[in-house]
Amino acid sequence: MKKRYWRCFVCNDVHYGIAPPELCPTCKVLHAYVEITAEEARKILGGGPETTMATEDFRASIERFTVGNEFQVNPAADKVSLLLTGIFENEKNHGFKFCPCRLRTKDWEEDLKLICPCNFPIHETYKGVKDGECWCGLFVRRK
Ligand code: SF4
Repeated sequence: MKKRYWRCFVCNDVHYGIAPPELCPTCKVLHAYVEITAEEARKILGGGPETTMATEDFRASIERFTVGNEFQVNPAADKVSLLLTGIFENEKNHGFKFCPCRLRTKDWEEDLKLICPCNFPIHETYKGVKDGECWCGLFVRRK
């Protein structure tokens, strides 16, 4: 099934998915979503908060992302810095924070899976591996 865009008619929260959420996570109104086009979604989101992010803000964001999860950002700071440089180079050159250690396919849906952080817990380098990590080692299983 194909994902589509949805807009909360109360607060303009934008959702991208097969179906809209029953409850708007932002304004908590029930059954508030109406389908919109990708172009409308782009315009709404483009007018939102700051669209660029400094490396340190992304770093803080992925630290928050790991809270409550079984993985953490790799404590090896030099490695993390190198990977973040690659991620931001990809954003500059290709429009998204693509994975710094995998090649894009030019297939839109497939390439969306390469935006960092990706769904690495399903990767063979992580799943069921004691000292598992994402392909690049940006995230590692907590000890
Ligand atoms: S493998 Fe690691 S660095 Fe690459 S996109 Fe996934 S989480 Fe990011």
